[in-house]
Amino acid sequence: MRHIAIVGSGPAGYYSAEAAQKKFGEDVCVDILDRLPVPFGLIRTGVAPDHQSIKAVSRRYEKTNTGDNVRFVGNVTVGEDVSVAELQQLYDAVILATGAPLDRALDIPGSDLPGVIGSAAFVGWYNGHPDFKDLDPPLDARSVAIIGNGNVALDVARILAKTENELVGSDIVGHALEGLKHSRVERITFLGRRGPHQIAMTPKELGELGHLERARPVVEADDFPDIGDDAMLEPGMRKSVTHLRNFQILAADAQHKPIEIAFDFFAMPVEIQGDGRVERLIVEKTELDKDLRSIATGERYELDCQMVISCIGYRTPPIEGVPYEHGRGRFPNSDGRILPGLYCVGWAKRGPSGTIGTNKPDGFGVVEMIAEDIGENSRKTGRQGLDSLLVKRGVETVTFRDWKKIEEAEISRARAGSPREKFTDIADMIAARKA
Ligand code: NAP
Repeated sequence: MRHIAIVGSGPAGYYSAEAAQKKFGEDVCVDILDRLPVPFGLIRTGVAPDHQSIKAVSRRYEKTNTGDNVRFVGNVTVGEDVSVAELQQLYDAVILATGAPLDRALDIPGSDLPGVIGSAAFVGWYNGHPDFKDLDPPLDARSVAIIGNGNVALDVARILAKTENELVGSDIVGHALEGLKHSRVERITFLGRRGPHQIAMTPKELGELGHLERARPVVEADDFPDIGDDAMLEPGMRKSVTHLRNFQILAADAQHKPIEIAFDFFAMPVEIQGDGRVERLIVEKTELDKDLRSIATGERYELDCQMVISCIGYRTPPIEGVPYEHGRGRFPNSDGRILPGLYCVGWAKRGPSGTIGTNKPDGFGVVEMIAEDIGENSRKTGRQGLDSLLVKRGVETVTFRDWKKIEEAEISRARAGSPREKFTDIADMIAARKA
């Protein structure tokens, strides 16, 4: 028997558990720990609520939980309730699948003004993450600046722009739906520090912007390179750029739509100003150097806005006792191995990039490494040892069966057309599993 602890129950954690099950069969006991009482990490609180087909991948993770050899242990904070060093004593291998839940800092003057929000907080707010349920974003803003040209920026803009009708069928939480119903937004501006050929927006997600009920994407023809240059792009990127170019054609038929979603390319935010809250963004025009990096031109303009949402990527927080690269915001590792017995997968390994599916090879790769590093017959106490430690410390854990009860309660309180109404309070989640 081998004992493996996985910290984090998002896609990277579950693919690692599935890989361990496939590799070792009945000769492995896997515990998946999560600080929340509910599983699935970014699938629940990161993937956009109007992208339910992506969220459906959680059914695959559920199957991993059907046997006895993989167990979900919710409501346990590693680093507080139990340390990584203790887990290493109890298990043959510890896999950190803790993701990258912190916003990369927007390091410009004024970024601490009320109304400046990181995407982790904004996405967490509309997705019902307990940490961000009280965010209360200033939805009286008529103009919102979104910094970044990635898929998270797209999610944020789309959720701000959609009508209540367009959110039917989503699992956006009630407090966000209610707030957005009263939103006064008229203009959303994406600020990209580079050009149309350097966006990090994937075609399917970008294409959605062209079909919104009350919002129209607007691009400036002058920002684009010669159309012949698109041929040099890799196919996915070429499709994205084609969507951008088509937005110019769509614009004529979309004039009646009241919300404008503008793309400001070659635009680097340098300062946020306002008296007690955000009032404007100072933006510096950029150009590209030969390595396609943005360089400032000295030309500046002001963008009136009352909310700024920075969608510029995420960071993995350090965990006590685990080596950490402060500059890169991740655990130093070689293909997922931090040291024999301690591993990382997903965003904690690679940084915040790729799709949900990118986590699958991570999980399967790390299990191969574990097979090389640890023996077949463990002398560790595994889950028995963990349980007695947590009981001694008075930690109330949540099992997968408990989660199914919480899920049932969330389904039964859903508004018409929605798959669930999530609990946003940890105490309510715990209470629901006892009901
Ligand atoms: P991302 O794809 O890395 O995009 C970050 C954006 O922020 C880039 O445009 C980057 O510009 C810009 N940026 C970074 N630092 C900046 C700064 N200091 N000032 C101005 N701009 C700055 O990150 P993300 O959007 O957070 O997405 C994370 C990952 O999740 C990605 O792999 C994404 O595809 C994935 N995701 C996928 C989906 C989906 O498939 N539906 C949805 C959401 C997220 P530069 O290029 O110039 O650095």
